[in-house]
Amino acid sequence: MNPLYVLAALLPVAFVLGWWASRLVVARRAGVDVSTLSSDYFRGLNYLLNEEQDKAIEVFLKLAEYNRDTVETHLALGNLFRRRGEVDRAIRLHQHLVSRPGLSEAMKTVALLELGEDYMRSGLLDRAEALFADLVAMNSHAPSALRHLIAIYQHERDWHKAIEHARRLEVMTGDDETPMIAQFYCELAERARQHGARAEAREYLHQAFECQPECVRAFMITGRLHAEDGQHAEAIDALEAAIKADSAFTPDILPPLLNSYARAQQMDRAEAFLRNMMGRYHGVSPILALTNLYRQRDGERAAVDFLTAQLRQRPSVRGLMTLLDATMDKIEGEARENFLILRDLTRKLLEGQAMYRCNRCGFGAKAHHWQCPSCKSWSTIRPIHGVAGE
Ligand SMILES: [Zn+2]
Repeated sequence: MNPLYVLAALLPVAFVLGWWASRLVVARRAGVDVSTLSSDYFRGLNYLLNEEQDKAIEVFLKLAEYNRDTVETHLALGNLFRRRGEVDRAIRLHQHLVSRPGLSEAMKTVALLELGEDYMRSGLLDRAEALFADLVAMNSHAPSALRHLIAIYQHERDWHKAIEHARRLEVMTGDDETPMIAQFYCELAERARQHGARAEAREYLHQAFECQPECVRAFMITGRLHAEDGQHAEAIDALEAAIKADSAFTPDILPPLLNSYARAQQMDRAEAFLRNMMGRYHGVSPILALTNLYRQRDGERAAVDFLTAQLRQRPSVRGLMTLLDATMDKIEGEARENFLILRDLTRKLLEGQAMYRCNRCGFGAKAHHWQCPSCKSWSTIRPIHGVAGE
């Protein structure tokens, strides 16, 4: 099992354990007999460790009842409810806690932060937004509240607000958020491009480069804008710069780049660039592009010779597929039947493959996403390298 999953599964346990340990210390200091408390806690923890969360909740609920003043008990419970997906129960519990008279300001803001997370989880984004905005205004748990607000604005695709709050977060924590802000500007540029607002798109790209001069995505959108305007020489400059900025995205950058080389009739430049790439990039895309280039320029024989020599050094299923397609016409008789089976199997092998993977959470995808749909990180989804991948 992935150690991360184990860790994630044990988080609520760790949360309750830590809380329980702190209660013991408090109880000892106060001279309270902890023996009766601890047997119940041990029972609850035992249930948690055995993943019998229903029974664990029962025990902790009893404890909360028994010890009405303990805010931490309620917080631990609310957290458990939310993690189990019982968001309505978590909301009721946290709302009750917030409205409790005599609650210290510090505890109230912790409960508000939890309540905001409950609202987010249940899709009540307006309520969550208002609550987190209040916490920021009170300067209470402001960095956490700001991060939640940025997550909400990303979900709503309100990139201007996302940028504004990311900047505030930078000022507050001193952390560098510019790679994320550059992505927000790229989102704005892409939207403007799709709506035909080309000057606006260029202005957003300028802002993205201000944040991150080597922003591969901004280079890619720049290339696309130039290509759409028929400026293929400029598109080539931008797309070559994109590969130099981050060659991991080569499989996505090469198709439009090859198109612009062809439109600008710069096939010599294409060959030189791809040849150069082969020395420092270990994926199969440049090899397949060169195979295609040689097929068009020098004929099928030259293309197959080049590809065969390359595949001996770098085994690749995608390369094999290209080779099978190129040689199919030459196979006759009984051997052809077997050949077709082999070709069919190879195609199925490729179809079932995830071509991209998030290097933060392991999410696999067939198409590229700039933001991981699973862990919401930016630029972490990359083409998979290896025999069956890039
Ligand atoms: Zn991810």
